[in-house]
Amino acid sequence: MSMNTSDRPTTAAAAPAWYDLALCAQTGPAFFFPEPGSSLRDAKRLCGACEGRAACLEYALANDERFGVWGGLSESERLALRPRA
Ligand code: SF4
Repeated sequence: MSMNTSDRPTTAAAAPAWYDLALCAQTGPAFFFPEPGSSLRDAKRLCGACEGRAACLEYALANDERFGVWGGLSESERLALRPRA
């Protein structure tokens, strides 16, 4: 499944199962794709309360999502989890 990196899935046909639990579905994408240098604190706080967090992070890592907050982690935090070649 392919997902646009500038947005979260918006249709049932495109959304993975965990997206039914996603709190970010109620906030809009700007919250999770902030301008460079902006604080990620509020997005991370929301992720901390999200029941879909583990599946969301797993999805982002499996699909090499490069931008925004996924599963409570920033781009650089997800990059640090990737195995080194
Ligand atoms: S963990 Fe965060 S980014 Fe992932 S679905 Fe939940 S609220 Fe959205």
